Amino acid sequence: MAGNSQGPAVGIDLGTTYSCVAVWRHDRAESIPNDQGNRTTPSYVAFNDTERLIGDAAKNLAARNPTNTIFDAKRLIGRRFSDPLVQSDKKLWPFKVISGPVDKPVIVVNYKGQEKKFVAEEISSMVLTKMKETAEAFLGLPVKNAVITVPAYFNDSQRQATKDAGIISGLNILRIIVEPTAAAIAYSLDKTVRGSGEKKNVLIFDLGGGTFDVSLLTVENSMIKVKAIAGDTHLGGEDFDNRMVNHCVQEFKRKHKNDISDNPRALRRLRTSCEKAKRNLSSVTETTIGIDCLYDGKDFDCKITRAKFQELNMDLFKKCLDHVEKCLDDAEMDKKSIHEVVLVGGSTRIPKVQQMLQYFFNGKELCKSIHPDEAVASGAAIQAAILSGQGNAEVRDILLCEVTPLSLGVHVQGGAMSVIIPRNTTIPTKKEKIFETCSYTKSSALIQVFEGERARTVDNNLLGKFELTDIPPVSRGVRRIVITFSIDANGILDVSAQDQTSGNKKSMTIINDKGRLSVEEIQRMLREAEIYKAQDEQHRRRVEAKNALENYVYEVRSKIENNMNFIAEWTFSDRMKIKVAIDLATLWLESNQLARENQFKDKMKEVESICDPIIAKMSSV
Ligand code: AMP
Repeated sequence: MAGNSQGPAVGIDLGTTYSCVAVWRHDRAESIPNDQGNRTTPSYVAFNDTERLIGDAAKNLAARNPTNTIFDAKRLIGRRFSDPLVQSDKKLWPFKVISGPVDKPVIVVNYKGQEKKFVAEEISSMVLTKMKETAEAFLGLPVKNAVITVPAYFNDSQRQATKDAGIISGLNILRIIVEPTAAAIAYSLDKTVRGSGEKKNVLIFDLGGGTFDVSLLTVENSMIKVKAIAGDTHLGGEDFDNRMVNHCVQEFKRKHKNDISDNPRALRRLRTSCEKAKRNLSSVTETTIGIDCLYDGKDFDCKITRAKFQELNMDLFKKCLDHVEKCLDDAEMDKKSIHEVVLVGGSTRIPKVQQMLQYFFNGKELCKSIHPDEAVASGAAIQAAILSGQGNAEVRDILLCEVTPLSLGVHVQGGAMSVIIPRNTTIPTKKEKIFETCSYTKSSALIQVFEGERARTVDNNLLGKFELTDIPPVSRGVRRIVITFSIDANGILDVSAQDQTSGNKKSMTIINDKGRLSVEEIQRMLREAEIYKAQDEQHRRRVEAKNALENYVYEVRSKIENNMNFIAEWTFSDRMKIKVAIDLATLWLESNQLARENQFKDKMKEVESICDPIIAKMSSV
């Protein structure tokens, strides 16, 4: 059990576009507002000449600093640089992404006048740190333990990388759970569901900013059992925004004959306006995108109707339904047997998405009773409370059975994929298979681990490989190698192999060749994260000291200027002393905006030592 010295355990929905943190308090899951009062925080990190910004501040200033404002780290995490999806996303990002060691994507920014490189895990860890601090500020307690959610379709390396991001942020990751399951936990606590006592087949339709998950579960009292999952780690609100951005780029070209597609600042401003317009179109049928001086001093004005928005995205909306169909097929269920279709994720507010889904389920009313933006974090908070022993009796009863999203197997002779754990197997699980080989003379065997549904391994995704070495040659018969796959409750895979024929027992853990961070790298990033945290703190204190001095100077000046009766009591010399001190401090501030914290404090002391006694003297009169 996570001790109280580590504060309550929280649930974090680490989203592509927005993140949300929740905690179990007063017998319910509560989403936590950030310093701006918002319950969701943009998953944005910005670097500039003086500081690092995370969340709302980073997103709000994105248009001013597009090349150093990082978002979409979730679209990079656990992927290779050469991944076609990374290559196509890269074209739309204003920030620079290059290929790092072992084909790992590396983000390049300019921070405090120097070039800095970050991997996606580090950027995500910064967002997680912000969520941790949001919870700490709200609860007034340190927060150490967390459950983090990932899309159901995140593969092994994406889950591993998310876990690493948590470690770099200084959190102890109690569990990684998948987003639709987290939403299902939140849904299952709903009194109406609880009260009924009957078994319900529930389809969770989770369309967020960057990912789409569909999950079919059975909910019966406290038992939540995932039957099947489907989805796309690259389908969501941002893709809808992109379609609108492309449309506007074409419109601008048509009207003004200028191509703005290689201007990051213009694209950033356009993207922000398009997202706003998209949200508007969920409640009105027509809206306007208006941006002054978008490019080359030219304004952009464009009317866009809901119908046009739908037309631009129809193929993507249809894709969502294809996944729903696949999920039903996998679970061997008919759509008529679904009792409830639950909407989760900000993009499920789009009327056309709702309409198409409702039509697919023969007009069935969709369930909108859980908050689309907060349900995932709430479910994660409930799971965190269960795992840390902090929940009440109702919560402690919840039993969760998750499944693995993709089939896992090894490469065998002829390039075939031999599946060891089929997709949609309940986890945690451990399965073994005996492989016989006829190569008597070789003293090693190469084990290659793949995930995917295709018959040939070339068409699947290589997770990693390792060599079972020092196996003595066999004189006759066949060599038998037992391969064991085990998936833990986080959905993370461990593979071992053992030569049975020789009696030698050797096993090895998989070496992930997807560029997973090594323990040393994680330690280094953890140390760097501490340094960045200390720098942020230093910056915050510096700004506080500067603000304190500016406020003081302002207050004293307004006292002198607005309160003539007050100063009438002062002697000429006192008046001059104060005026000179304030004028000099103003001049000093103008030319020392980047001074250090102690310089501001020293200046403050100096001015106070002149002004305070005079003000105090008069106040007492
Ligand atoms: P989530 O990841 O669940 O926080 O979803 C965020 C996505 O939902 C972003 O792409 C938002 O633009 C989108 N979104 C939020 N509200 C609306 C809305 N009213 N209409 C359409 N999309 C929305």
